[in-house]
Amino acid sequence: MNTIMAMSGREYVSKVLSNLERDNPLEKEFHQAAKEILESLVCILDKHPEYMKLGILERIVEPERVFMFRVPWVDDNGIVRVNRGYRVQFNSAIGPYKGGLRFHPSVNLSIIKFLGFEQIFKNSLTGLPIGGGKGGANFDPKGKSDWEIMRFCQAFMAELYKYIGVDMDVPAGDIGVGGREIGYMYGQYKKLTRQYEPGVLTGKGLTFGGSLARKEATGYGLVYFVKEMLKSNKMSFDGQKVIVSGSGNVAIYAMEKATELGGKVIACSDSNGYVYDKNGINLQTVKRIKEVERKRISEYVKEHPEAEYHENMKDIWNIPCDIALPCATQNEIDINSAKALIKNGVKAVGEGANMPSTLEAIDAFLENKVLFAPAKASNAGGVGVSALEMSQNSMRMAWTFEEVDEKLKGIMKNIYEKSIISAEDCGCPGNLVVGANIAGFVKVADAMIGQGVV
Ligand code: NDP
Repeated sequence: MNTIMAMSGREYVSKVLSNLERDNPLEKEFHQAAKEILESLVCILDKHPEYMKLGILERIVEPERVFMFRVPWVDDNGIVRVNRGYRVQFNSAIGPYKGGLRFHPSVNLSIIKFLGFEQIFKNSLTGLPIGGGKGGANFDPKGKSDWEIMRFCQAFMAELYKYIGVDMDVPAGDIGVGGREIGYMYGQYKKLTRQYEPGVLTGKGLTFGGSLARKEATGYGLVYFVKEMLKSNKMSFDGQKVIVSGSGNVAIYAMEKATELGGKVIACSDSNGYVYDKNGINLQTVKRIKEVERKRISEYVKEHPEAEYHENMKDIWNIPCDIALPCATQNEIDINSAKALIKNGVKAVGEGANMPSTLEAIDAFLENKVLFAPAKASNAGGVGVSALEMSQNSMRMAWTFEEVDEKLKGIMKNIYEKSIISAEDCGCPGNLVVGANIAGFVKVADAMIGQGVV
């Protein structure tokens, strides 16, 4: 204890990070997320040495529980396939574990842990009573039939149902998991438990407990957050050229709201490539291709021959724009992409995806005075409305779209203000990375202290 009490906040953070790397070798995404968060907590640790004495950082980087399990299922040819499933229950200091499920071939423990770790602070920022968790499987939904998706979801839930519950752990969607998958998983949960408990999953269909505006929430919330950030700097979306990467749930609704606020979205992408339409992306076409037909974004140019399709989605960041909204996946903006954006005069970057910018890219944006909205603040609208879905399920009633949308606006404005105040208090005015991390951390740390050493 004496040694810890003699340490500065910076020394303590270095010690926790080096132990974390030693104890979790190969988990590079988790290391990255931990470094980004912990290094911005130095000032609060210096002000509150009790966080060090009580081992808050050592405790917060260690998940409360990790489940890894086999998911066997049968494909349309009668062949047995096996995937690996995960659920990481990271921190329940302020509420039941809450965080999405990702189905993507790249899923591994490191990715689920980085996402679960981020989720602790993001959920805290929403001001709602939800802890942090995340899960998923290394299953690739691409090219699978609807029946295969259903059988996989059922097989996944056949194990997951043991670990979740309305007051214990409430999963939602993420990459590869949308309303269809949540519906299949909910059906299986109900069958296995014989309970009609819609609050156990969020992002459900509207006919069985889903919330209006949940589908739109992450993308709309991102744009509401960026709007606040622009407004504080005497700017707006009006007339700005916007680039949105991805063309999934977050990207589509970010494009919709950015357009509604007067922005002109000129490019979007999927994992194969990107579409550049100088006339402005036609969102109805994107919605049909991605949400209804579940096809590739390259189809877009068949209907809009004036648009260009290019393979290699990373090159999307070479197109000049005023506002960049990365909404696809982690580390999609590296230092080269950041430099290209800066060189072309980008004014603001708002993260819709989780950890889409590398640490070097974030530093470059901050050093070059690009307004930067970090994911755990700017994409918190999705989990915020998920928590509102849980509330509606508990009350057995449903709010209107407008009611939920108003609450979402309030949540995003509040997160922006909290982050600005925390950044200012720590001597880093305008730095939303530091502000969001500190504001998210303090509530969880104080709740952990209040609950004793558990
Ligand atoms: P979707 O599965 O709906 O869409 C993901 C999009 O990103 C697709 O266009 C996909 O292309 C592309 N993409 C996925 N993986 C890669 C990759 N490795 N390289 C390049 N492109 C890729 O997911 P969401 O829109 O729900 O999620 C997008 C991001 O937002 C993720 O980081 C997620 O964690 C984050 N997020 C999501 C929330 C939600 O409510 N859904 C809430 C908060 C954050 P393709 O179709 O080719 O795979």
